[in-house]
Amino acid sequence: MNAPFATPISRSAVFDDVEFSDHENVVFVSDRKTGLKAVIAIHDTTLGPSLGGCRIWPYANAAEALTDALRLSRGMTYKNALAGLDLGGGKAVIIADPRKDKTPELMEAFGAHVERLSGNYITAEDVGVSTEDMEAVARKTAHVRGTTATGLGDPSPYTSLGVFEGIKAASRHVFGTADLTGRTVSVQGLGHVGFGLCELLHAAGAKLLVSDIHVPAVLKAMEAFGATAVDPAEAHMVPADIFAPCALGGILNERTVPQISARVVAGAANNQLLTAHDGIALKDRSILYAPDYAINAGGVISIALATPGCQADRVREKTVAIGETLSRIFERADRERKTPEQIADTMAEERLGR
Ligand code: NAD
Repeated sequence: MNAPFATPISRSAVFDDVEFSDHENVVFVSDRKTGLKAVIAIHDTTLGPSLGGCRIWPYANAAEALTDALRLSRGMTYKNALAGLDLGGGKAVIIADPRKDKTPELMEAFGAHVERLSGNYITAEDVGVSTEDMEAVARKTAHVRGTTATGLGDPSPYTSLGVFEGIKAASRHVFGTADLTGRTVSVQGLGHVGFGLCELLHAAGAKLLVSDIHVPAVLKAMEAFGATAVDPAEAHMVPADIFAPCALGGILNERTVPQISARVVAGAANNQLLTAHDGIALKDRSILYAPDYAINAGGVISIALATPGCQADRVREKTVAIGETLSRIFERADRERKTPEQIADTMAEERLGR
């Protein structure tokens, strides 16, 4: 099923990889019967067993899959630490096309390999993986989240709630009040998270400028919230108090940062800054940026804490606390004249005792 790799991994590839960052354990797994080929990367278990989703992607070669697993697992260490979870960072990537190669047997074979790690890695959904797939994984291992038995269902409402709390914290910092009545927010991307965010913002009295490349979603938001539609390519430059990117990564870059009219950038999208320099460019323009991995942690909080018997209000409480974490980040960034994302990294590292 999977094409043979164009580039084999050399014996020293893990330690030489640009994304290697003293990962504790990197496991290459395969299963002849199902064609499974995967990399499980455990970055850091200082705070507890590593948790991070499983991504299925048609990587061009094994080296590309390894680099992604190393990068994403390190990101999970920081995200889980900053979210106050007693969990480390890990990630799995399966080299396959989710539309053609995914079978229950493949997911079961992956589950069997997760089981062999004795709970050092806990898996969950990510790109290309559904709740149904996780049910298959759960037939072979208990070290799984995001199934109907262990989960609170779709994590997106918690991500929306965390972003909403983050927007209020950023507003308090910049405008002196968390009251969003009459504030204009440009929400780019009206998917699971963006639409839920619009609901919360609308209920809080904000004026919404909405954009999505999927027109029915825009029409729905216009009708539900009296929102004004804007061109998705101009979402960052329309006159607004707050820009909330909830679609694409890399949206904050050399071209867009000088065009932003809002004083706050706070949204759910992953990897919003194209480069670290773009974070400095935002600071130079006095635009407050809520670090993406801090503000969008509501989903991972719900996945991490949603074990059988867990109360939804505990997840809610921890998600609402994202606002307080961001307030601390913003205040310290001002004091130390650093960017919020530099401070977020520092605070995560402090929790890790580094
Ligand atoms: P989604 O796929 O449900 O929604 C994304 C929306 O963005 C879609 O409606 C799509 O049409 C739209 N879109 C795509 N390209 C666009 C463009 N150029 N301009 C405007 N809109 C565009 O995804 P989601 O679950 O809502 O996640 C949104 C973002 O938040 C992603 O970056 C995701 O990685 C991140 N995130 C999501 C969660 C979660 O719990 N779902 C958690 C953390 C981070």
